[in-house]
Amino acid sequence: MTSVANIIASAATVEQRSRTMLGDTITFGEPTDITTTCDSQLSTEPWQIDTEPGYGPGASTNDEAPSTAPHQGPIPAEYTDASEAELDARIIAAKETLGDRLKILGHFYQRDEIVKYADFVGDSFMLAQAAKDHPETEAFVFCGVHFMAETADILSDEQQSVILPNLAAGCSMADMATIDQVEEAWEQLMQVLGTSNDERAEVIPVTYMNSSAAIKAFCGRNDGIVCTSSNATTVLEWAFERGKRVIFFPDQHLGRNTAKAMGLTEEQMPLWRPYLPMGGNTQQQLEDAKVILWNGFCSVHKRFTVAQIDKARADYPDVTVIAHPECPAPVVEAADGVGSTEYIRKAIEAGQPGDVFAVGTEINLVNRLQAQHPEMTIFCLDPVICPCSTMYRIHPAYLAWVLEGLVEGQVHNQICVDATVATDASVALERMLAARP
Ligand code: SF4
Repeated sequence: MTSVANIIASAATVEQRSRTMLGDTITFGEPTDITTTCDSQLSTEPWQIDTEPGYGPGASTNDEAPSTAPHQGPIPAEYTDASEAELDARIIAAKETLGDRLKILGHFYQRDEIVKYADFVGDSFMLAQAAKDHPETEAFVFCGVHFMAETADILSDEQQSVILPNLAAGCSMADMATIDQVEEAWEQLMQVLGTSNDERAEVIPVTYMNSSAAIKAFCGRNDGIVCTSSNATTVLEWAFERGKRVIFFPDQHLGRNTAKAMGLTEEQMPLWRPYLPMGGNTQQQLEDAKVILWNGFCSVHKRFTVAQIDKARADYPDVTVIAHPECPAPVVEAADGVGSTEYIRKAIEAGQPGDVFAVGTEINLVNRLQAQHPEMTIFCLDPVICPCSTMYRIHPAYLAWVLEGLVEGQVHNQICVDATVATDASVALERMLAARP
């Protein structure tokens, strides 16, 4: 049965295969040498913890899950008791039976035991686009997290189903901004800032793709927009053409790093703490603000530090350090390059044999990049195994369960975004697509 050894550190046991990575190929192989884990429960199977509140073992263990976060009920013992080989055979057989009716979408951060079955591997927006680009497919099994499956449901056709194999696969960062908190904050901001006397709005709401459909819809209804980690600068420029300031949900680090790169100062970026009146700010601070940062963060990317970068530079003087913009600002400023998972992937693709890359992003992606490029040295800045807890909740047992359900005509764990929410969220997503440079 699967354990931490083959969650992260023994990808060598995964059969060498190639998978489409939205136009490219992906290879599994030997991981980098990593010896410690951040959580002893990483050896626990997800169904053993699915009854408990919280995000489970991994980087988000200590984050507080809202009471509204979806729970996963038990799945039949024939799946949880099955051996790895049996699950493998059942998944492959179900995939073959379903043929073109099915596409499995695997996020870059997903574990190898799942990614090896994926028809497409990419970031959240690439995978949602893949769903949109395949109108002939009846069902998409989204091996990512809840907000990603929602976005795929919004962008796909009404008759297509999007399935999340484990409903407990949420995202702790997305959960840090609930729609009730956002509406409350908006009401307070409107009271403090009033209505604009000129063409530019007082505040434009901008949400990162890593947010619930309800918050994307809020942005759609309130002249706001969605961004990804690839286009956050373009989106902020779009917002500043239309408003005097922005409120940025839910990742403070992406908001701060993007705004700083555009020349804004820390003083122009107050933090909005949702449990405090006026987010813990004075009226003057909010009036002077250019970007009001929601107090959310990704616990995977928050782990990276400047000390880790210093160590990488001491160990490998020619190292190139690349960080994801969800990392804290000091890490981003100390890195040689900053960008989305796709940017990181392309930067490494452009490397030469013998190059050394230290990467500040989720460990499954980094290990896979090393496997794909044995001619280079590629390692995670964090020497501790600490995967995204929520991606971890998707295990082959759940994948086998949802696939065999489809074969039998049963749709387990369908993610259905309310029609009104989907319409409003689409407005914010379309604005993002139109704002592309
Ligand atoms: S890596 Fe961070 S932002 Fe991405 S799904 Fe996991 S918790 Fe959410």
